[in-house]
Amino acid sequence: MRARRASNILLMSGFHMSSSVPAAVEFCSVSRHFGPTNALVKAVNSVDLTVPEGAFFAMLGPSGSGKTTCLRLISGFEKPTAGNIRIFGRDVSDIPPNRRNVNTVFQDYALFPHMTVRDNVAYGLMVKGMDRRLRESKAEEMLSLVKLEGYGDRRPSQLSGGQRQRVALARALVNEPRVLLLDEPLGALDLKLREAMQDELKTLQARLGITFVFVTHDQSEALSMADSLAVFNNGKIAQIGTPSEIYAKPRTRFVADFVGSSNVLSPKTTRLFGGPNRWSSLRPEALRLTAPDNVTLSGTVTSQRYLGTGNRISIALHGTEVSALIPAGQPLPKTGHTVGLAFDPAALHIMEDEK
Ligand code: ADP
Ligand code: MG
Repeated sequence: MRARRASNILLMSGFHMSSSVPAAVEFCSVSRHFGPTNALVKAVNSVDLTVPEGAFFAMLGPSGSGKTTCLRLISGFEKPTAGNIRIFGRDVSDIPPNRRNVNTVFQDYALFPHMTVRDNVAYGLMVKGMDRRLRESKAEEMLSLVKLEGYGDRRPSQLSGGQRQRVALARALVNEPRVLLLDEPLGALDLKLREAMQDELKTLQARLGITFVFVTHDQSEALSMADSLAVFNNGKIAQIGTPSEIYAKPRTRFVADFVGSSNVLSPKTTRLFGGPNRWSSLRPEALRLTAPDNVTLSGTVTSQRYLGTGNRISIALHGTEVSALIPAGQPLPKTGHTVGLAFDPAALHIMEDEK
């Protein structure tokens, strides 16, 4: 604590201390394995990661990849079987959940059905022993922050899904955490509401300046919301980076497949496209259709799908199929026709997979 205050003072006096300002969350070779040795589940397996203070950090990955276990390790509801975790520079091995300055918005919201919305929000403050008047006024403040003023007397069952989600958020924020963990918080909402809540969460995070660790299995949500993200696969981080790094330069086939609509090209196809004998990825928007000639690569249009902003065309060539994205308003080739394929060679991104 004293060290942190000292570094804040140095920052205020203009010293450049960025390397010594502790990260909000750091994992150093953290594992959490479950079960007996003959049936070990490596839920989290030797993970290293750093979440800078004030970041909107996303953990993205398929179901079962270890995201929730990582959040539980940060909040202290789960202990590592190996490695250590630091929160603002402090090893938290012996620090219980209620003293970590971390709160969680759970996937199913976990609201108390028999309590009013106000009492749900004030719950953490009641546990801490804050007197009723003060905690109720703080709860009202939080309800207005999440745009639910006037809803304090209702029960959770009298709210819509989106409103319940906001109550869960207010209930976590009332404790003034320095790190807020959100476990697929928008998963239960329909698309329109989810998009509205994505914008609101982003705005709220920027306004409060709290570090957010946001878990999702939805790649577009992670890419659009996060400052940086970790892509999980089987308890390990497959890649960590900014959304544009992850989108444009997936490290492995898994990341390319999971994160987007990229063409994943086998070593053979990569060679055909002028690259080395390695797996590669090529974004559909990087492919241009040309009139076929004898020099350029060419293929046969097998299908086209209207997407609103453009058309996605599938093209078969040499035993494989690639897609190209044609912006709205540009001429479309007919199914069955032969087209040439042009692209900037720099757009062919070579991945790290072994052959
Ligand atoms: P995600 O949140 O990415 O869907 P989880 O972290 O919940 O993944 O789970 C990762 C893996 O660990 C899964 O295979 C899950 O079944 C397993 N797991 C999680 N918690 C436990 C537990 N308490 N006991 C045994 N296995 C568990
Ligand atoms: Mg989960």
